[in-house]
Amino acid sequence: MTNAAYGGRQDLATRGTAPPRVRLPATVLAEHRAAVAAIREAYAALPPGSPVRLAKRTSNLFRFRDPLPGRKAGAAGGTGLDVSAFTRVLHVDPRRRLAVVGGMTTYEDLADATLRHGLIPLVVPQLKTITLGGAVTGLGIESTSLRNGLPHESVTEMEILTGDGRVVTAAQGPGGEHAELFRGFPNSYGTLGYALSLTIELEPVQPYVHLRHFRFATPEACMAAVGQIAADGGLGGHRADFVDGTAFSPDEIYLTVGAYSEVAPWVSDYTGQRVYYRSLRGPREDFLTIRDYLWRWDTDWFWCSRALGVQHPVIRRAWPRRYRRSDVYRAVVAFDRRYRLWETLNARRGQPPREAVIQDVEIPLGRSAEFARFFAGQVGMSPVWLCPLRLRGDQPWPLYPLRPGEVYVNFGFWGTVPLPPGRPDGHYNRLVEAEVAALGGSKGLYSTSFYSPEQFWAQYNGPAYAALKREYDGAGRLAGLYEKCVRGQ
Ligand SMILES: Cc1cc2nc3c(=O)[nH]c(=O)nc-3n(C[C@H](O)[C@H](O)[C@H](O)COP(=O)(O)OP(=O)(O)OC[C@H]3O[C@@H](n4cnc5c(N)ncnc54)[C@H](O)[C@@H]3O)c2cc1C
Repeated sequence: MTNAAYGGRQDLATRGTAPPRVRLPATVLAEHRAAVAAIREAYAALPPGSPVRLAKRTSNLFRFRDPLPGRKAGAAGGTGLDVSAFTRVLHVDPRRRLAVVGGMTTYEDLADATLRHGLIPLVVPQLKTITLGGAVTGLGIESTSLRNGLPHESVTEMEILTGDGRVVTAAQGPGGEHAELFRGFPNSYGTLGYALSLTIELEPVQPYVHLRHFRFATPEACMAAVGQIAADGGLGGHRADFVDGTAFSPDEIYLTVGAYSEVAPWVSDYTGQRVYYRSLRGPREDFLTIRDYLWRWDTDWFWCSRALGVQHPVIRRAWPRRYRRSDVYRAVVAFDRRYRLWETLNARRGQPPREAVIQDVEIPLGRSAEFARFFAGQVGMSPVWLCPLRLRGDQPWPLYPLRPGEVYVNFGFWGTVPLPPGRPDGHYNRLVEAEVAALGGSKGLYSTSFYSPEQFWAQYNGPAYAALKREYDGAGRLAGLYEKCVRGQ
């Protein structure tokens, strides 16, 4: 790998032209090259036929699997592929607004590194331990996604360890090297290869975000406002640098519109006793520092910390601040799932079994009000997170069917609901899958899925995936997308 291989793109205007190069400091480059050589060797040395997994400390997947033999769930080391050398920011080029980043770097570390230069990635997912590679291969989203699209759309180049053991550089743009792999990587979930480093674009920030919470009494009114923001870039005279929403019920929905601000008459703090999502129902206006805004949802894992009691004032006071983080809550949930503690307790109390309905789905704006009403009526879980998005570029991404130019609304719901008598686990998730398909939407694959192979490949472009799999993992060293995301291998 040459230094010149770390490329980038400066802004929209340069799309499709040769990207500007980012020069890494010599020592950083030498260390990175050594790490790449080492992981390539380690990959080649893995016992043939054994499952390949990343030995990462954190994960935000909600498809739980047994840990690899000799390895505790969530622990690094063991027989997984050690990717610890790829967990840092290699270089930030503030002048060109580009960063070269290890593939397994968390957004918490990435944002801290770029904020030092007054910059952030164009999309910063809300959970601190989501990694850049995870968000690009698994599709991330956040409140800049109406303006900036999805995280993979601001990647200019990726260095990928492919399933067949090569290390290739996949670049955007016509004539880019391994351009098919570049475009097919999003939504491949590590089944074609692993991103070892990525070059991404950054945007300048201001120190504060000025929030306004707009309340709507129907999903139709809320979605009309989303359409207005998509057209005008603001709502009620407030600029929409950021926009997301929270539905407590079909007649109580909030859109939160955030504008960068140089000044703040006050700043709120939701990392202490106050809980961010509850604040939406309070005063209509708020200010956060840019860093606190990025992680506003992480402290309580949106509202999911509620299930662990962390929002009860007494428990909250006793729960150390440094452990009010999504990765801590997820570890608790993973432990519970593994030992079936809650399930057993529930059964002993004579309560019906509960189904985990943990999904993010994208619905075209024109059908989003219907989805909101379907979800409230059929699943009935609350709150639900809303996040409008629109692809940044004018080309579709082969493995995830979003149409360029169209506005979608992401619905995120994360919780459990009691199963109706006689219904098997998967009942609600299947209802959701069917409704998403009927409304012309699509579903992220980080959680459980129940599609038949035919439905799955019709939805996620089977022919394009098969061609990429042949080209980059012909011997099937890595699990296939269906096996991994539906069968949970
Ligand atoms: C409650 C909840 C809420 C969520 N909310 C959001 C949200 O609001 N916004 C959002 O963006 N996402 C959200 N997600 C989804 C999350 O972004 C995805 O699950 C993402 O893929 C997690 O990335 P990770 O870095 O934690 O990777 P992991 O969980 O470790 O891995 C995810 C998958 O990506 C693969 N992978 C990881 N790193 C790489 C790499 N470098 N190269 C190739 N493949 C790799 C792994 O093999 C695995 O298949 C949410 C998930 C949950 C459970």
